[in-house]
Amino acid sequence: MIKKKEYKFWFCTGSQDLYGDEVLEHVARHSKEIVEELNRSKMLPYEVVWKPVLITNELIRRTFNEANEDENCAGVITWMHTFSPAKSWILGLQEYRKPLLHLHTQYNEEIPYDTIDMDFMNENQAAHGDREYGHIVSRMRIERKVVVGYWKDEVVRKKIASWMRTAVGVIESSHIRVMRVADNMRNVAVTEGDKVEAQIKFGWEVDAYPVNDIIESVQAVSDADVRKLMDEYYEKYMMVYDGRDPDEFKKHVAEQARIEIGFERFLEEQNYQAIVTHFGDLGALKQLPGLAIQRLMEKGYGFGAEGDWKVAAMVRLMKIMTEGMEGAKGTSMMEDYTYNLVRGKEGILEAHMLEICPSISEGPISVRVKPLSMGNREDPARLVFTSKEGRGIAVSLVDLGNRFRLIINDVECKKNEKLMPNLPVATNFWTPYPDLYTGAEAWILAGGAHHTAFTYDLTAEQMGDWADLMGIEAVFINEHTTIPEFKRDLKLGEVFYR
Ligand code: MN
Repeated sequence: MIKKKEYKFWFCTGSQDLYGDEVLEHVARHSKEIVEELNRSKMLPYEVVWKPVLITNELIRRTFNEANEDENCAGVITWMHTFSPAKSWILGLQEYRKPLLHLHTQYNEEIPYDTIDMDFMNENQAAHGDREYGHIVSRMRIERKVVVGYWKDEVVRKKIASWMRTAVGVIESSHIRVMRVADNMRNVAVTEGDKVEAQIKFGWEVDAYPVNDIIESVQAVSDADVRKLMDEYYEKYMMVYDGRDPDEFKKHVAEQARIEIGFERFLEEQNYQAIVTHFGDLGALKQLPGLAIQRLMEKGYGFGAEGDWKVAAMVRLMKIMTEGMEGAKGTSMMEDYTYNLVRGKEGILEAHMLEICPSISEGPISVRVKPLSMGNREDPARLVFTSKEGRGIAVSLVDLGNRFRLIINDVECKKNEKLMPNLPVATNFWTPYPDLYTGAEAWILAGGAHHTAFTYDLTAEQMGDWADLMGIEAVFINEHTTIPEFKRDLKLGEVFYR
């Protein structure tokens, strides 16, 4: 479901003609070698494309504008092999609109003590040239990532790889379209927000549809198509009847299969990549979409419950950013539900009424049919599982009235201490960093929501960089967080992002 362009990143090396053609040839050869090695390393999720060495104002300006125009180009990586007078970069940088990485590296790893002379120094002076270039980017207040180190170093390559995913998130953000089926849950504040401002800031299109429009698509699904999908369900998942008659159980599951197919077709026809539903506004739907939504999320759709379009867009965004990642552990909408406050075992039980993405599951997935405690429909079928252990991030985008704030909390996911046989929903259990008490206090002070977009596969740094490029505030809750410093951070944000 995640259809993206074959994104590429341009590698632009800066120099000047003061040192003669021989030096420029070396600069070109060295930068080509770096690009080839980066691609050969297979450590980068996207290809790097070498561009001719930039030495004049005209060429720099033209190259940056070509990068703007090329829809497969998701960003530019710059590096000053020699000194490169930075006034030459002003017009190009002024007109450039995509993510920028400044790779502060050097062709040689070690100083060649025995042979070094002034010619060598002039040719290999990124320490000098990158400062000149960095100055103008800072003076122009342009957001960019700076990665420092030797280009063969694994750590450096990982940093470039990580930034590439952020850059693709920035470019793809403006292709996210959220379908709102019905409106936000009545009287709920934190799931609301300014949709016009979201489009200005993030490029998201957020549109409402009457629930009956999508229901027509559900009702149009043939019985044969439902049977086919049911075969897949029965093969893939463990059916847990909970004492229900298997035929009656099957009818409930079939309704979710019909919803999955109908919803997916409608989303595809209307070109939406994220969806919100609301248990209180289901029209002629017989069940709250549970299993159906869980499977759509697994296919790459964003989802937000109770009309939460911000979470739906964030889940979609984070699924795009992690796309194709080897060993990915999953991304889902989540909700902070209930605490364990036993000393030494503190944590939050994460779940939702139904809709948790099975990409985060570990172990077998079962299907259960149980009543909902809310709403007035048939008992919905849902996928039930527990989640993987390990570190992840929980992200909440809130609208503070005059601006958006992104709250990013590092969390440690753990195995549930005991089985919960009477809880028929998928769960995760995590302890926020630095600990439950500080983490939850900071989260509440920042105005974070109960719904989050959660992933094991991105870092707080990647999401913070995304926020910086979007021009919104990001606050971090992690192992270094203390409440006095966090409060000061929020106060500074009030001034900076007014
Ligand atoms: Mn909810």
